Amino acid sequence: SVPRECPEYNEDEVDSNVINLDADDNLVVLVDDDVAMHDLIKRTISKLNLTLIGATNSEKGMELIREVKPKLILLDVLMPDMNGIEVLNEIRKSDLQSDLPVIMVSGFDDVRSIAKCIAIGASDYLSKPVDGIVLGAKVVAALERKALRNKANKLMDQLTIQATTDQLTGIKNRRSIYDELDKLVDNFQLKKIEFGIIILDIDFFKSVNDTHGHHAGDVVLVEAAKCFSKNIRSNDFIGRQGGEEFLALIDNVDIKETTKIAERVRSAIEENIIDVDGTNINITVSGGIAHSSETKERDSLINLADERLYVAKESGRNKIIN
Ligand code: GH3
Ligand code: MG
Ligand code: MG
Repeated sequence: SVPRECPEYNEDEVDSNVINLDADDNLVVLVDDDVAMHDLIKRTISKLNLTLIGATNSEKGMELIREVKPKLILLDVLMPDMNGIEVLNEIRKSDLQSDLPVIMVSGFDDVRSIAKCIAIGASDYLSKPVDGIVLGAKVVAALERKALRNKANKLMDQLTIQATTDQLTGIKNRRSIYDELDKLVDNFQLKKIEFGIIILDIDFFKSVNDTHGHHAGDVVLVEAAKCFSKNIRSNDFIGRQGGEEFLALIDNVDIKETTKIAERVRSAIEENIIDVDGTNINITVSGGIAHSSETKERDSLINLADERLYVAKESGRNKIIN
């Protein structure tokens, strides 16, 4: 036999046709009705290896900001059409990054406006006449704060992923899949949205390890997890309960549909021939199903599915019991 890909179930997915307007990464937008300010600020900004683009009224400014996705915005408080505070409000209410740095430029003694701007989310302020050195320092500081926040957010995301992912297979770990199951149980009690669960256990997996070695066993687990993922719907969940046992959660289905999905997964695994360093390995899985209509308790759902998995094993394996 030759390696054969696990068949993939194709859900009808609509292409989301997103246009990515990711522009130059070094842009600063200045919105100020005073043309002289543009020349002054441009000189400082270009010394920082940033590029300044300007607008001389609020409406053009908003357009420009949406179009070029700047790294930072300098915004005059006093303009004839819409004042800078309103523009800032609009920026913060929009779908632009909520922490996009905005530095307000105000009159020297305009303390009320300054206070207001900071209250509604300005990063900093400069007073006119603008001093180049202070402007440069504030721009650099605002960009550094933003970069630090980005780094912290990225770390938080990584931590969350690590805490919820099974290291070997990359699918959800036991804790995470049980959390998802709890959500389904709650949702069923509140809104009567039915769901099914499938416990899947690889047949004679010990002999894969014994025959081909532990590394081959690991590769088989990874490939099995991929094959499961490909054959459930994109809004359903698959997790590794432990060892060679997996738990799939199928939302908003009756028993019949759950069984159909379980059967599709079983058959896909049977079809799949896994190549491990030139050796072809073929496995099968047994599965037990339980459905929300049978019990409201999480643990008794798991027990029901476990009992049926046992029946599947006892009655010859490579089958699903509901
Ligand atoms: P059955 O058809 O009854 O399920 O038989 P089985 O051999 O699949 O079940 P058994 O519980 O006897 O053996 C499971 C084996 O899975 C034993 C264990 O060493 C192996 N195993 C568990 N976790 C891992 C893992 O992360 N990597 C590898 N390679 N093997 C694992
Ligand atoms: Mg097994
Ligand atoms: Mg087992």
